[in-house]
Amino acid sequence: CGIVGYIGYDDSKEILLKGLEKLEYRGYDSAGIATLSDKDVYISKVKGRIAQLREAVDSNVKATLGIGHTRWATHGPPSQENAHPHQSQSGRFNIVHNGVIENYLEVRDEYLSNVELKSQTDTEIIVQLIEVLYNEMKDVAAAFRKAVELLKGSYAIALIDAEDEDTIYIAKNKSPLLVGLGDGFNVVASDSMAMLQVTDQYLELMDKETVLLRRESVEILKLDGSVVEEREPFTAELN
Ligand code: GLU
Repeated sequence: CGIVGYIGYDDSKEILLKGLEKLEYRGYDSAGIATLSDKDVYISKVKGRIAQLREAVDSNVKATLGIGHTRWATHGPPSQENAHPHQSQSGRFNIVHNGVIENYLEVRDEYLSNVELKSQTDTEIIVQLIEVLYNEMKDVAAAFRKAVELLKGSYAIALIDAEDEDTIYIAKNKSPLLVGLGDGFNVVASDSMAMLQVTDQYLELMDKETVLLRRESVEILKLDGSVVEEREPFTAELN
């Protein structure tokens, strides 16, 4: 299983698909991508191989940011509806996640009694929770951090917001996730191997950090909202 994401000035689809292909070795049962262009979110997901995902992707849409996922099902059988990305009720928030949310039933019962869930995954709980919290807080980054604070378990998360073409929201706890630095773009991936074709400069993330990934900047924040001032990149090599 694995995660990829790209934000830059080029079309994201091919970078995401190539990245997912590089993560195929980790094993998976389904795969998907979400890209964003002119406030429209384009989701393609399949049960099966990246080659099938590639066929399902609309090649006419050019989108300069997007996220992708290969799934190893833990909650809900492998199926198209359980494949990631998952979407919030309004369609605004879109998420990919690796890991297991241990308290997803508690979160569902406490916060999501008015939400009609579309999948059987623990992952959908995260994105629905973010929307519920956003509706209260009216601040996406704060709602994202609050949601992450409420989750127990392991997660590598990337989220896009249909209303914001300039940010990918990232969080990590006990699942691998790296930020890759480019010139006029930035990426995120579970493994540098996925993105070595575009950059060899990576930032390691610590557990419970969140990131606001933008085309020209990377902002790492702790859950209390404080900014992590220094993080030296390392050079990844093909191994
Ligand atoms: N627990 C999530 C699911 O079953 C994510 C699995 C994964 O890491 O791919 O959908």
